[in-house]
Amino acid sequence: MAINKTPAIILYSRKQGETSKILTMLTEHYGKQKIIAKGSRGIKSKYLGVLEPYNYISIVFYRKETREFQYLSQADGIERFPSLHQELGKLSLAAIPCEIIQRSERTGHKNPQLFVLLLETLRALDAAACGLKNILRFFYLHFLIISGFEPDLSKCSICGGTSLDKSYFFELDNGIYNCHDCGILTEYSIGISGKTLEYLRWLSRADLHKVADVKIPAATGLELDTILLTYMRYHVEGLLNLKSIEHLEQLLNKLKK
Ligand SMILES: [Zn+2]
Repeated sequence: MAINKTPAIILYSRKQGETSKILTMLTEHYGKQKIIAKGSRGIKSKYLGVLEPYNYISIVFYRKETREFQYLSQADGIERFPSLHQELGKLSLAAIPCEIIQRSERTGHKNPQLFVLLLETLRALDAAACGLKNILRFFYLHFLIISGFEPDLSKCSICGGTSLDKSYFFELDNGIYNCHDCGILTEYSIGISGKTLEYLRWLSRADLHKVADVKIPAATGLELDTILLTYMRYHVEGLLNLKSIEHLEQLLNKLKK
């Protein structure tokens, strides 16, 4: 058994017995880990306020690779993202990247790029006043890129045309797009507008901390979300019926009423 120290982000927390928690964390040095924090609940706990979902912390834990759960020895807060915890809408959005990683990432798989992407996504959500959905869209696309599914958005895969003034098909299986006129329609093709392709190109090279400033029309935003989530679910296992997305939709419906 080894004693390990690493920065970590809490993805998910659930109660264990009367006083403990089981925390799923994305750690910087040891990938995703499930860690039991004994005596971590209640107002007398030394971890009060530290072991809350989406916090960025530093941990010391006992690790044995053959075990499903590891044991926490020490935890200290690094960053708490105050506005994520104060605003219900932001908290619901922060849950989405955390649930995607919790469900799809292999335990123990060290993935420093993903760690940075999640940390910067949480920082951006915490800092932004509007345009929060663009931060999520950036996360979806860059999560796909890190996972090896970068779509080729540079040109029509058949005629090589780069202009975006027509209608197009996106092929989920190959991550490429074709003009409507060039395209060979397969069962894995979905319609995509030139505008949506343009925003995807932009998101692939944008600065995460500036994407919230850009206003995307609602219909294009909806198409972007659909394409990104459908493409992600096609390639990454375990992402159907994400509770965090269902929860966000319920919240938005309530606000509309
Ligand atoms: Zn074409």
